[in-house]
Amino acid sequence: MRQAYIKSQNKKYTIGKVVCVGKNYLEHAKELGDVVPEKPVVFLKPSSSIIYSGEKIIYPEFSKSLHYEAELVLLIGKTGKSISKENALDYIAGYTCGLDMTLRDWQSDAKKKGHPWTISKCFDTSTVLDDFIEKEKVSNPNKLDIKLWVNGELKQDDNTSNMIFSAEEIIEYLSGFFTLEEGDIVFTGTPKGVGEVFRGDKLKASIHGVASIDAEVV
Ligand code: MG
Repeated sequence: MRQAYIKSQNKKYTIGKVVCVGKNYLEHAKELGDVVPEKPVVFLKPSSSIIYSGEKIIYPEFSKSLHYEAELVLLIGKTGKSISKENALDYIAGYTCGLDMTLRDWQSDAKKKGHPWTISKCFDTSTVLDDFIEKEKVSNPNKLDIKLWVNGELKQDDNTSNMIFSAEEIIEYLSGFFTLEEGDIVFTGTPKGVGEVFRGDKLKASIHGVASIDAEVV
């Protein structure tokens, strides 16, 4: 079992579902050559894929195209279903920065065939988290600077205000279809600037005032 830790409260949550929203930034959807979605694109990752900042991302032998995706991650602190966006923040316990590592070759092939993306998103070490900070310390999750560097070079530099669907809208949408449970986490999508990494690369991702991640690809 993997845990989400809110250091300031010394509180641990057992992570259940890892729910992810794809194509949530206009410029990123465009760079992948995708149609801009009218509704959030939703997929899951298993909690077994989670590692934490400071640990190593293992490049799978079966892929030739590993990409980084830095994202704002929400921690669900209260179980709920059919949550309105007006009440959505009540269900969030905290925030962190996450990496949704993706096998772009497997994903592109699956997209072409109309197959699920599972293998491209669920491999061991494909989900990187930092500790969470309590939600009271973030005045607006939809107004945060998010950045990612590879070997010190800035690759992603954006703001969560450019998300197509806000944190609250995502929670409303997801919980309309299935229960969000205490300990579930939600990846809210990555901004433009995704790209490939190689063995030996050092990744750093940060959300200003929230969290930051260091992870080396091996
Ligand atoms: Mg992603």
